[in-house]
Amino acid sequence: MERNKLVLDLNKNKEFNYIYKLTEEQIFSKLVNLEQLTFEVTDACNLNCKYCGYGSLYSTHEKRENTFMDFEMAKKIIDYLYNIWSVHLGITSPRKIIFGFYGGEPLLNMPLIK
Ligand code: SF4
Repeated sequence: MERNKLVLDLNKNKEFNYIYKLTEEQIFSKLVNLEQLTFEVTDACNLNCKYCGYGSLYSTHEKRENTFMDFEMAKKIIDYLYNIWSVHLGITSPRKIIFGFYGGEPLLNMPLIK
């Protein structure tokens, strides 16, 4: 897989310009040296907390669309990272990575987490 296909070009996304600009090389370096990977396995939530950062108190939150990550997408991401590590670090055995799961309520997508 070509690395350019999955690397985000944050510099072209105006939404992120005020936050931080990363070059393609910086993004790639972060991926090569990744120690923690957090999947947003769903943006759905079965609660309705008043203080929720995705709730009505905040006008700038991204829209929640009740989406769920599927196994194929998660595998694609892991395969992509494994390819980077194999090619650029010569790593073919497992390395220590911390996996995290984020939502919404991530437990709504327990089949994927398992
Ligand atoms: S995402 Fe978290 S804070 Fe928001 S409604 Fe669900 S449980 Fe509450």
